[in-house]
Amino acid sequence: METILLLANSEADGSLAKPALEALAGAKALSAGLPGSKLVVGLVGQTVQAGADHIASCGASAFLGVAGADFAPARYATDAAAAEALAKAAQATIILAPATSRWNRVLPGVAQRLGGRADTHVTGLSVSNGAPSISRWYYRQRMEAVLQRTQRPWCILVDPGSQSAWQGEPGTAALQSVAVNLPETCKRTTVVGVREPAADAQTIRPDADLLLVAGAGWTKKQADGQAHVKDAERILRECLKLARASLGSSKSLVDLGGEGQAVLSFLTHMNQIGQTGSTPRHPKGLSTCCHGEEPHTVGWRFINERRAINLDPNCGWARGKADVLYVADAFAVMHKVNELLAAKSGA
Ligand SMILES: Cc1cc2nc3c(=O)[nH]c(=O)nc-3n(C[C@H](O)[C@H](O)[C@H](O)COP(=O)(O)OP(=O)(O)OC[C@H]3O[C@@H](n4cnc5c(N)ncnc54)[C@H](O)[C@@H]3O)c2cc1C
Repeated sequence: METILLLANSEADGSLAKPALEALAGAKALSAGLPGSKLVVGLVGQTVQAGADHIASCGASAFLGVAGADFAPARYATDAAAAEALAKAAQATIILAPATSRWNRVLPGVAQRLGGRADTHVTGLSVSNGAPSISRWYYRQRMEAVLQRTQRPWCILVDPGSQSAWQGEPGTAALQSVAVNLPETCKRTTVVGVREPAADAQTIRPDADLLLVAGAGWTKKQADGQAHVKDAERILRECLKLARASLGSSKSLVDLGGEGQAVLSFLTHMNQIGQTGSTPRHPKGLSTCCHGEEPHTVGWRFINERRAINLDPNCGWARGKADVLYVADAFAVMHKVNELLAAKSGA
C-alpha cells in the first residue's frame, strides 16, 4: 500500500504556486489509481496554513507542515531537512514535488538520505499492472520512456506544465506541525536579495499562449542589401506586447551577441530554445526568420500548434516540423500581424 506525500512550498504571500497545484493533481490521480493508497500533503514555508486551507478539499488524509522564518527561503540545507522530516512523519513511500528550481536541487539528496531513489523531469504519472509508473523524456525530448521502480521511498519531480493544476473549494485544513531539529550549520547560507528584470523587460513568460521565436534571419541583409535590426526589434517588441507572448530564440541569434554583432537588445541565452536550450510548453508557437534545424526544433516538443515564417520554401520547418509554413518575408508578415493585433485590442 502506497503512501503518497505531496511536497510543496508556500510562496512569500502564503499561497501555493501553480506548479505545486499541478503536482497535487498528479498525486491525486496516482492515488486514485492505487486502491488502498493514502495521500498526505506536506508543506514548507514561512507560513503554511493558508496554502493548506486553499487545498483543504483535495482529499488528503493529513496535512503536515514545517513552518517558520528558517524555511522561507529556498536553501538546500533547510529544505532538505524539512523534506526529510515530512517524509518520515508521513511514512511516505512515494514523494511527489513540483520540479521547480527549489525542489529539483533538493529532492535527489533527500532520496539519498532516506535510502530511496529519485526521478527528475517527470511528465506523466499512471498506474500499470497495479503499480505506479512515470513517463520521462530522454535525449532532449526525442525519446519517451515509461518507468516503474520497486525501491521506496520513490521521489518524483513533476515537470511544471505537464499536469493540469488542481482546482477545488478552499476550506480549513487541520494542519499538523512537524518539528525539525535544525543545527546552526544549516543556516549558513542566506538569501540577500533577488535580482530580476523589470516587468516590462521580462520576455520569458511560461504561461503565455504563444511562443514567438526569433531566428538569426532578423539580423541578415534583406532584399535591399541592408540589415534592419532596429526595425526587427521594434516589430518583435510590439508583437510580444500585443500578444503577451513569450520570446524564444535560435542559438545562432543569441550567439551573435557574444560575437559583437548587432543583435536584438532584449535577447539572452535564457531565451534559447532547443537541444542546448529550453523546451517550453505553450499551446502555440510562431517561428520567424529561423531555419528550423533539428537541434532547434527538438525544443519544440511541447508546443502544440506550430507555425513558421521563412523566405526559404526548403527550410527545416517545411519538412514536417511545422503545421503551417508561410513562405514569406517575416518583416512584412509581422508588420501586418501587429496591425491586426492592435486593431483587435483597440490600441
Ligand atoms: C550540438 C548542437 C546543439 C545545438 N543546439 C541548438 C539549440 O539548442 N538551439 C538552436 O536554436 N540551435 C542549436 N544549434 C544550432 C542549429 O543547428 C542552427 O545552427 C541554428 O538553430 C540556426 O539558427 P537560425 O535558424 O536562427 O539561423 P540561420 O540558419 O542563419 O537561418 C536564418 C533563416 O532566416 C531566414 N530569413 C532571412 N530573412 C528572412 C525574412 N525577411 N523573412 C523570413 N525569413 C527570413 C532564412 O531563410 C534562414 O532560413 C545546435 C547545433 C549543434 C551542432
